[in-house]
Amino acid sequence: MPRLCSAGGCCTRDSRETRNRGISFHRLPKKDNPRRSLWLANCQRLDPSGQGLWDPASEYIYFCSKHFEENCFGLVGIRLKEGAVPTISESFSKLHWITKTKGPSFPSGPQSYLI
Ligand SMILES: [Zn+2]
Repeated sequence: MPRLCSAGGCCTRDSRETRNRGISFHRLPKKDNPRRSLWLANCQRLDPSGQGLWDPASEYIYFCSKHFEENCFGLVGIRLKEGAVPTISESFSKLHWITKTKGPSFPSGPQSYLI
């Protein structure tokens, strides 16, 4: 099954083209991982019921690398570091990202978001 990015407003899918662009996919932490709620809060999706945060039942929820700052990645380039949280969205403008670092208010892309 092709992997799809689940961030709200993002429809990146895993394909040869996205790989060529250096986009990687990262799986949502499992339910017992405290980072999961940060990922879900930042993904800008509401629960289908319209109440509260999205809490997908599927274990196969992915975010593409466009939502992570460059410093979230280790030297290998495609592996997220421990504690990485998606903080970048192309599609939303008024957000209060939940993250321990405070960057410039709204980045236009990962490149501009380095501190
Ligand atoms: Zn994405």
